[in-house]
Amino acid sequence: MNSLSNRLRRWRMRRILNRDAIPHPVWQDATRGMALLQGLDAVQMAHLRELATWFLHAKAINGVQGLEVTLTMRVTVAAQACLLLLNLDIDYFDNWVEVILYPGAFRVNHEQRDASGLVHSETSDLTGESWLRGPVILSWDDVQRDCYDLQAGRNVVLHEFAHKLDGRNGVNNGMPPLRRGMSRESWAWDFSAAYDALRAQVEAGADTLIDPYAATSPAEFFAVTTEYFFTAPQVLKNCCPFVHGQLERFYRQPAAR
Ligand SMILES: [Zn+2]
Repeated sequence: MNSLSNRLRRWRMRRILNRDAIPHPVWQDATRGMALLQGLDAVQMAHLRELATWFLHAKAINGVQGLEVTLTMRVTVAAQACLLLLNLDIDYFDNWVEVILYPGAFRVNHEQRDASGLVHSETSDLTGESWLRGPVILSWDDVQRDCYDLQAGRNVVLHEFAHKLDGRNGVNNGMPPLRRGMSRESWAWDFSAAYDALRAQVEAGADTLIDPYAATSPAEFFAVTTEYFFTAPQVLKNCCPFVHGQLERFYRQPAAR
């Protein structure tokens, strides 16, 4: 990016932060008691508030099925989503504009083609979904549950927005555009070794240290390991230390909160 557009961007950002900063009581109300943010210091919390302010300016958060979305609810989503960006460029959330909130789990119908070419229609209840270049869809019930009741490896907002980081380069394959200085080869090596090991365990019917859902695809593996990185880093370290190390270099955040 050239320096003029950089300057313009910083100027726009400052204007947003000055004019539309999230009011302090609302920020307090939404983030107090948010288990995920325990351990962030005052400077990090202030930066997170700026990112969340930018997020609410750049993205629409709309309720469906009669769900009325308050500012506190929007901040609850934005604060968790922006935790991923605390030390990443905001460009990582480019190419999409909307978050859709359902009151609870939502039913979707997906068509899948099997090996013989037949198309099957599958109905399932989801807590979240992220479309490549499209919206992030979340169940408000689950967003709320995950942010106040910290469970190892479970946070629907982190999961769905990790898919956004991954899809930033146009494909959800478990490898987001990496930072300068990070090696794509070593990322691919570490992630595929851990992914293959997990798949083998799942296929053998063995117990796994992390949610076996991670073995669904490389994209799900990245999203699920991101959930562990922020909610239960020690579990991730025990399960796949090299993946933990890659995520530490990528997110540049302390693993232990
Ligand atoms: Zn997913």
